[in-house]
Amino acid sequence: MKIIAVGKNYAEHALEFDGTMGKPDAPMIFMKPDSSILKNGKHFYLPDWLGRIDYEAEIVVRINKLGRSIPERFAHRYYDAVTVGIDFTARDMQRRLIEKGAPWELSKGFDCSAVLGEFRPIDGFDIKNIEFSLDINGTTVQRGNSAEMLFSVDEVIAYVSRFCTLKTGDLIFTGTPAGVSEVKVGDRLKGFLGDEKVLEFQVR
Ligand code: ZN
Repeated sequence: MKIIAVGKNYAEHALEFDGTMGKPDAPMIFMKPDSSILKNGKHFYLPDWLGRIDYEAEIVVRINKLGRSIPERFAHRYYDAVTVGIDFTARDMQRRLIEKGAPWELSKGFDCSAVLGEFRPIDGFDIKNIEFSLDINGTTVQRGNSAEMLFSVDEVIAYVSRFCTLKTGDLIFTGTPAGVSEVKVGDRLKGFLGDEKVLEFQVR
């Protein structure tokens, strides 16, 4: 399986990241290897040799059938589950690589950098209006709604599937809202879909 991720998909986060404003021509896509998955509430051991590690809370959807060149109007048939995940990012390393114009995949694709909450059936949600939030040590640090995405889940699926065949089990991290910052040893992260907690783990 593969993990597809969208960069800068919320206007306020794009602004805090590098001052970008407005909607780009196409979604900014990158991938994480399957070895980056961390789930079932397991601890995240801070890879401090990578420098500063930032959390990015994101809505994650799970692909449930094979598809290529999927028209946007049919894209909703290609995913069946949703959760909240964390796209951990080695921020210093990423910025250094961006400055050099070098690929920055490894700053996003290291082991345990793709944390998954428990999936919920998509039926219970309106994909264009899903509230989600991240709480660290009892304080809400990120809050978003899928309505604020620059590219909707269906637009992302239509775009990506022109290049890469989507397969059952593939995951899409759909981008993070504003409020991104650093994690520290001892932090306890909780992710919510609406009011329901679907993700909880600790940084060690
Ligand atoms: Zn992200």
